[in-house]
Amino acid sequence: MRVNYSLRCRECQRDYGNIPSSICTDCLAPLEVHYDMDAVRGKFTREAITARPANLWRYAELLPKPEGYDSGLPVGMTPLVKVPQLGKKIGSRRLLVKNDAVCFPTLSFKDRVVAMALAAAKNFGFETVSCSSTGNLANSVAAQAARHGFEAWIFIPADLEAAKVVGTQVYGARVTRIAGNYDQVNRLCSQIADRYRWGFVNINLRPYYAEGSKTVGYEIAEQLGWRLPDNVVVPMAGGSLITKISKAFGELVTLGLVEAKTVKFFGAQATGCSPIADAVKNSKDEIDPQKPSTIARSLAIGNPADGIYATRVIRSSGGWAEDCSDPDIVGGIELLAASEGIFTETAGGVTVACAQSLLAQGRIGTDEETVLCITGNGLKTTDALAGRFELDDAIEPKIAAFEKYMGNAVAATASA
Ligand SMILES: *Cc1c(COP(=O)(O)O)cnc(C)c1O
Ligand SMILES: [Zn+2]
Repeated sequence: MRVNYSLRCRECQRDYGNIPSSICTDCLAPLEVHYDMDAVRGKFTREAITARPANLWRYAELLPKPEGYDSGLPVGMTPLVKVPQLGKKIGSRRLLVKNDAVCFPTLSFKDRVVAMALAAAKNFGFETVSCSSTGNLANSVAAQAARHGFEAWIFIPADLEAAKVVGTQVYGARVTRIAGNYDQVNRLCSQIADRYRWGFVNINLRPYYAEGSKTVGYEIAEQLGWRLPDNVVVPMAGGSLITKISKAFGELVTLGLVEAKTVKFFGAQATGCSPIADAVKNSKDEIDPQKPSTIARSLAIGNPADGIYATRVIRSSGGWAEDCSDPDIVGGIELLAASEGIFTETAGGVTVACAQSLLAQGRIGTDEETVLCITGNGLKTTDALAGRFELDDAIEPKIAAFEKYMGNAVAATASA
């Protein structure tokens, strides 16, 4: 294979070439995709990238793209938008949202990682792809598998949101519900992966999969006009996304596409599942696994695979981590929607609510340029808003009926 990347152990640096595996057999540390930077230099330039189609494959030199691979799917290049009204409400004068709630094709940032994993799956000759999922990954694997002609086996905890289950089944995937939490689902999947020749996107293909998250970082830098922001606030489940945005920024500096700068990384979790935030707050070097209990199901991973690496990124950057309650998550969803017209899922509510407390604590400065990573779409978790809004009885389709109704509505608002 004439490619410029291979798997390398994150700790002992042993090189494995390109194989469907995620763990170093010598030291049991995770494998990560390593690039030959000298081969990349000169090709990965602002000019070259800008001239390419507006999707994540424009960063191909620093992605595990098999030779000659063309997915035909324009994943990524989601909007980066200023959110001044939200900023006013939570105390920031320079706030932006990286809006992956509208990522193609399944409305979450997981489309990025699945694009990488299925490229690898095709390259390794897998016919069946699979995953353990808290919901968004299931949607994305099912959709992209349909498009690429893989058979898909999806494993989920039994209590997932209805929209995320239907939003997997509709693509023709086999959905196996497990009576247990995500960590139990994931353990089962590791055993299945040992027994069947399937491409598990977040197990044996995990190193390739994880690289997709870097494209969030590349896009933020490019969309800011090739420079880095002061702060990034990132929701954490397994802890991979936050570490990969940091890796992306580092690569852009190494290759001279942006000026070097310390970007502070802030991790956000729900209080009902906050193993990484707890480790940061208590200055611990290990993650104490937790039993998740939160409406933020997409973040409910009690034993995060990249938790330690996430804490290192946060600490070494001078950032911090925060967690928020379930009512605060709902508050965060409503605040972003009502102030900026962006409807995010529970994970986005976590990001907004945690950003609000980090600003209130002064950990994020009012005048610092801060990017909130909104990672999923609100239409998938409407359960979280059940009972939040009253619905009036229907009125007759007559102007008199409407004016009576409007009068009552105005009076009700005035007395409220
Ligand atoms: C998976 C997920 C995350 C977190 O990703 P990790 O890389 O596992 O930390 C954040 N937001 C949403 C909506 C997700 O589905
Ligand atoms: Zn090793």
